Parts: sequence; C-alpha cells; structure tokens
Amino acid sequence: MPIDPTLPYDDSNIFAKILRGEIPANRVYEDEWAIAFHDINPQAEVHILVIPRGRYVSWDDFSANAPAEEIAGFVRAVGHVARAHGLVEPGYRLLANIGRHGGQEVPHLHVHLFGGQFLGPMIAR
Ligand code: AMP
Repeated sequence: MPIDPTLPYDDSNIFAKILRGEIPANRVYEDEWAIAFHDINPQAEVHILVIPRGRYVSWDDFSANAPAEEIAGFVRAVGHVARAHGLVEPGYRLLANIGRHGGQEVPHLHVHLFGGQFLGPMIAR
C-alpha cells in the first residue's frame, strides 16, 4: 500500500528499525548523514537504497524541512555510494518514489540507486 507522504514521521517504519539496528540490513556505506544498504528485493544487478539518518517521510519533507548541511550530506552520500560501486562511467539511475502516484511503500525518505546493467526506459509503459 502506498503511503501518504503528508502524514507525520512514523518511528515504527522498517527503515527506522534498520537505522536503530533493530533489524538487519546488508549495509554498504554509512556516515554522519546517511546509510546505504542493498534492497531486499533487487530490481537490477545493483540496487542500493540510500537513506538519511534524519526523520523525513519523503523527498518533499526533506527538501522543505532539512537543514542545508543535512541535505548536502545526504546528496554527497548518494554520490559516494555510486562512485564506490564503479557506477559513474557505465552510468546508473537514481529514483525516489513519493506518495501514491510514486508508489512509495516505506515512509522514510530513500533514494534507489540502480546500476550494473542497461536500465531501459525511464518509466514502465
Ligand atoms: P518504495 O516503493 O520506493 O518505498 O521502495 C521501498 C523499497 O524498500 C523496496 O524496493 C523494497 O524492496 C525495499 N525494502 C523493504 N524492506 C526492506 C528491508 N528490510 N531491507 C532492504 N530493503 C527493503
């Protein structure tokens, strides 16, 4: 079920549990601002999720409410993960689903990082 991105942050969401170490994740990167881990149901050869440590429901919440330092830290973390996985030269794709039309399932901001193969058309038809 897609989530409503206008609702307040819910600390019981699955990525909050991963951040608190309550459930395992296959982490590939972490710093002061963000953590990254493999998606449990990969849609491409490389499918990594990058999430801010902060409590933000969606890109909308994050872009409107996060301090500039936190936004910079998160954006840099995404770039770092892509470089660390050798994805810059072959290319890769970033995706953030927001709300119902985006099909967002987890109410903690996450960027999907896809790579390792040609990724096809931008939007499924
Ligand atoms: P979205 O539809 O953008 O909210 O995507 C949520 C993503 O989280 C999906 O690609 C799921 O496969 C992934 N996911 C859900 N639970 C976990 C988990 N415990 N560890 C890693 N990825 C997860």
